[in-house]
Amino acid sequence: MILEQMRRNPTDPVPYMRYRRLGRSPLTVSAVGFGTCQLRMIPEQQALDTLKKGFELGVNFVHTAPDYEGAEDLVAQAIEESGRRVIVFSQGYGERTHFEWLFESTCRKLKTKRLDVFGIACVEDREYLGENVWKKGGIIEFLLEKKQQGRLGSIFCETHGTPEYIGKLIRSAVFDAMLLPYNLLGFHVLSYFPSSPVIPEDIPRNKKEIFPLARQYGIALMLMKPLGGGLMCPGKAFPTHRRFSTERTLLRSEDILRALLMDADVTCVVPGTASVAEAEENAAAGWVQSPLPSDQIAVLQCSTAEMIASLCSRCGHCDLLCSRHLPVSWLFRDAYISNGGSETFETLDRLQYFHLHPQDIATCSVCDNRSCWCPQGIDIPYRLIEVHEQMQILRERGLLPETPDQINVQRPRGPWPSKVISRDIPDRLPAGARRTLRLWLENVGPLKWLSLAAAADHRPMTLVIDTGRTRQNVRLRHEVEPGTRTHFSFEFESPDNPGQYTLRFFLVKEDERITDQTEPLLTCPLLIE
Ligand code: SF4
Ligand code: SF4
Repeated sequence: MILEQMRRNPTDPVPYMRYRRLGRSPLTVSAVGFGTCQLRMIPEQQALDTLKKGFELGVNFVHTAPDYEGAEDLVAQAIEESGRRVIVFSQGYGERTHFEWLFESTCRKLKTKRLDVFGIACVEDREYLGENVWKKGGIIEFLLEKKQQGRLGSIFCETHGTPEYIGKLIRSAVFDAMLLPYNLLGFHVLSYFPSSPVIPEDIPRNKKEIFPLARQYGIALMLMKPLGGGLMCPGKAFPTHRRFSTERTLLRSEDILRALLMDADVTCVVPGTASVAEAEENAAAGWVQSPLPSDQIAVLQCSTAEMIASLCSRCGHCDLLCSRHLPVSWLFRDAYISNGGSETFETLDRLQYFHLHPQDIATCSVCDNRSCWCPQGIDIPYRLIEVHEQMQILRERGLLPETPDQINVQRPRGPWPSKVISRDIPDRLPAGARRTLRLWLENVGPLKWLSLAAAADHRPMTLVIDTGRTRQNVRLRHEVEPGTRTHFSFEFESPDNPGQYTLRFFLVKEDERITDQTEPLLTCPLLIE
C-alpha cells in the first residue's frame, strides 16, 4: 500500500517525495530516510547541514542509536533547527533497566514524553548475548507497556538474522517495521560469516522469503545497507582510496536506491548519509518520478554483475583451503573497509589487515601451493596481491589504524590518558585552507570523560588544536567510558601565514589551562604553503 502525498503547501520546495504507510501503524515515512552512524566521523556542522538538507528535500525520518557517538543529539538539534516534523527511529539494547534508561534518554534528547517509534538494536545479538528479550520482565514487555501507556507509537527492530529468525520475528506480530539488510549485490562490506553456532544473514533469501512474508503480515520493510556499505558506488562524504570492483560503469546512489524502491514490498531505503551532496542525491531517489528506464536498469544489472565477479562476498569457503592458512575473507574485508571510506564501523583490532598478515611481501606472491578456490570465480591470489599493495600504500600514508601490537606499546599521553588509534592529519596545507581532520582516540585512563566533571554544560572535555599562533577547540560529543574510543572530526582552519608549524593536540577539561607542562596527546609537523 503506497500513500502518495503530493504537495501540501504550494511553496514547499519538494512537491514530490513519496510517503508510505509504516506497516500497520498510522505513521507515514518518506521513501528515503537517512542512516546516521557515519555522523560521528564528520564535523558537527556538516552533520547538521546534511540532516537539514534531507529534511528540506522531504526526508521525514532518520534511523539513529545511542551508541553512534552523539548522533542522537545531532539529530535532535537538526530537527529543532529545521522546525520540521521528523520521525526518529532510535533503538535500545541490554537488560530492561538499561533499555528503559535508553528509551528515557531518547525522550529527553527529543524533548518529548512520547516517541513515535522505538526499537531493538540487532535483536538476534540481544538473544545471543542472553539478554531478556521475550520473557517476563524483558524488553518486548517493556515496549508493549510503553505502547499501552501511550508513550510509544510503534515498535521496530533492526536485524542481521537468518531468514528463519526474521520469519519468527515477523510472526511474533510485535513489530510494525523491520530494518534489515538488502541490496542488489547480495552482500555488504560488513558481511561476515561467524563461527558456529551463529548463522549469518542471507540477503538474497531475504528478498525471496522475507519480503513476501512481511507483506502478508503488514510489516514495513526498511532497507539498510542498500548501497552495500559503499561497495556499490563511491560515497561523496569520505575519500575512496581505491575501488577493487571492476565495473565498467560507475553507478550512482540515486539509481541504485530508485531500483530498490521499485519493489512494492519495500517501504523505504535507509542509506547512511554524511554530506549535503549525499543528502541531495539520496533524497532524490525517493521523489515521485517515472520508473527507472530499462536502459538504466540494464546498466545497473551489468555493473552489479561485474562487482559480484570481482569482489569477495565473504562466503568463507576459501578460508579453510589456503595452504598458508591465510584468513582470506578477513583480509578482503579490512581492505574494503579501509579503502572505501564509507563504512559505518571500523575493523576490530584483531581483524586488521596487517595484524592478520604482518609480512611485507604478499604471501600469495611467493605461494607454491595455490590450493585456494573461489566458487564465485574470484582470482584469489591476483586479488589478494592487489589488496596487499594498496594496503601498504595506505600504511605508508599513515591512514590505517594502529595494529594491536602498536597500540600495546604506545604510551598513554596527556592529562586524561589517551592513545591515538588513528589519525587523518595532513603534513602540508595551503595557507588559510579548511580541511576536515580526524582523530580516533581511546580512553586508557580510569575515568569517564564526559560525566566525571559534571560541568554545567555537560561537555567537560575538549580537544584543543594548537598551531603555536592559533587555538581551536572541538567539543567531545558523547560519553567515553574507560577502555572505549571516540572520534574527533572537525573542520580545521590552517594559519594564514606560510611556514613550518607544529600542530599540538591536547585533550583537556574545558576550564583546564594548557601550560608548558601540559603533555600533548599528539604532535605533528605541518607545512603551510
Ligand atoms: S571463496 Fe571467494 S567469495 Fe568466498 S570468501 Fe573466498 S574469495 Fe571470498
Ligand atoms: S595463493 Fe594465497 S590464498 Fe591461495 S593458497 Fe596460496 S597463500 Fe593461500
